[in-house]
Amino acid sequence: VTIAVPKETASGEHRVAMVPKVADKLAKLNVDILVAKGAGEGSRIPDDAFNEPVQMSGRAADIFGADVVLAVNAPDAKSIGKMKKGSVLISFVQAHNNPDVVDALNKASVTCFAMELVPRITRAQSMDALSSQASAAGYKAALMAASSLNRFLPMLTTAAGTIRPAKVLVIGAGVAGLQAIATSKRLGAKVYAYDVRTDTKEQVESLGADFLMAEGVKAEAEGGYARELTDDEKKKQQDMLEKNMADADAVITTAAVPGRPAPKIISKAMVEAMKPGSVLIDLGASGGGNCELTQPDETVTHGSVTIYGPSNVPALLAEHASEMYAQNVFNFLQLIVVPEEGQEDAKPADKTYKLDINWDDEVLAKSALTHNGEIVNEAAKEALK
Ligand code: NAD
Repeated sequence: VTIAVPKETASGEHRVAMVPKVADKLAKLNVDILVAKGAGEGSRIPDDAFNEPVQMSGRAADIFGADVVLAVNAPDAKSIGKMKKGSVLISFVQAHNNPDVVDALNKASVTCFAMELVPRITRAQSMDALSSQASAAGYKAALMAASSLNRFLPMLTTAAGTIRPAKVLVIGAGVAGLQAIATSKRLGAKVYAYDVRTDTKEQVESLGADFLMAEGVKAEAEGGYARELTDDEKKKQQDMLEKNMADADAVITTAAVPGRPAPKIISKAMVEAMKPGSVLIDLGASGGGNCELTQPDETVTHGSVTIYGPSNVPALLAEHASEMYAQNVFNFLQLIVVPEEGQEDAKPADKTYKLDINWDDEVLAKSALTHNGEIVNEAAKEALK
C-alpha cells in the first residue's frame, strides 16, 4: 500500500497532514510513504526531518497516484483527476462548499472519507479532527484577543495602583469556546460565556467562568449539537447579550450549527453598544461570521471597536495543529489499512498490510462522502442537489 501526502495549496494554509513523529508510526505498518517536497515547510518541518522509509517526491503524478492520499484540505479538481480509480482520499472536504471537488472525486471514482463527517462517538474520539483543530482555534482566539487589546488581561496590584482584570465574553461553548475560556482564564481575565445548549453551563463553570442564561432559550439538538433559533429566541438572546457585551473588553464568538451558515448573533447595533477600544474575534468568519460586520480575513474597525474575522485559525498554530491532525488521520487510517489475512498474530516486522474497507464499521460508513462514483453521504447529497 502506498500512502502519500501532498503539499497544501490553499492560501494561508500552513498545516500538513503528516509529521515525522506520526510517519514513524505509519512506517511500522510496512507501507510505502511518499511526502511532497516542501509539504511541511509551513509547519516548520523541513524535508529532511522525515525519517526512512519516507520518500520525498516532487512529482504530482506520484503523490496523487498513491493508493491513499492524506491531506488537510481536499486537493483541487485537477489533482483529484490524477488519482487512481478506487484509491482513497482522507481530508476535510466541506462538500456543501466544494461541489467541484465532489464532482472530481466522483469522476475519478475515488473513495473519499471526509474528516468533518467522522462521527463523534467514543470509539472515534482519537480521530476527531474537528475537535483537535477547534481546540487550536479557541486557544489562538484568546491570544489574539489578548494581544490586540491595549490593556492587561489579569488583575495587577502594583505600586502604580491596581489594574482591574479584563472582561472576556465567549459566545458558543463547544470545543473551541471552552478552549478560549480556559486560555483567557489562564491569562487572568474575568470570563463570561454563553451557549444555547444550557448543558454547557457545568463545563463553563468548571473552567472558572460565569455562565450567562437567556431566559426561554434552550436549543439542544441531536448528537450534542445546537439547532437554529427561532426569531423570538434570537431576540431574547440578543437582548441578553447586548447588555453583557457593553462592558466586555473582548468578545470571542465560536457559534456554529452543523451544515448551516454561522448563526448571525451580533448585530451592528450590538457592536455599537460595545466599549471603546474593545475587540471582537469572530471564529465563525469562515461560515459567514457570527457578527454581521465581520469580513473574512479582514480587520474591520467600526467606531472604536475592532472586529477580526480570521478564516483559518488552526493554520496560525500550524506546528501543533498539524501534529494533532496527523495523529487523527493516522488513527483513522488504521481502520482501512489492516493486516493481511492470517497475519494478525505475526511479528510486527513481518506483517504485511492491505487496504480493506469494512463498510459495516459505523465510523467508516458515516465518514464516507464518495464511493464508486457516487455521493454516499445523505446530508451532502441533499446539500448538493
Ligand atoms: P460546533 O462547532 O458545532 O458549535 C460551537 C458551539 O456553538 C456549540 O456549543 C453550539 O451549541 C453553539 N451555538 C450554536 N448556535 C448558537 C447560538 N445561536 N448562540 C450561541 N451558541 C450557539 O460545536 P462543537 O464544538 O463541534 O461541539 C458540539 C458538541 O459535540 C458538544 O456537545 C461537544 O461536547 C460534542 N463533542 C463530542 C465529542 C465526542 O463525544 N467524541 C467530541 C467533540 C465534541
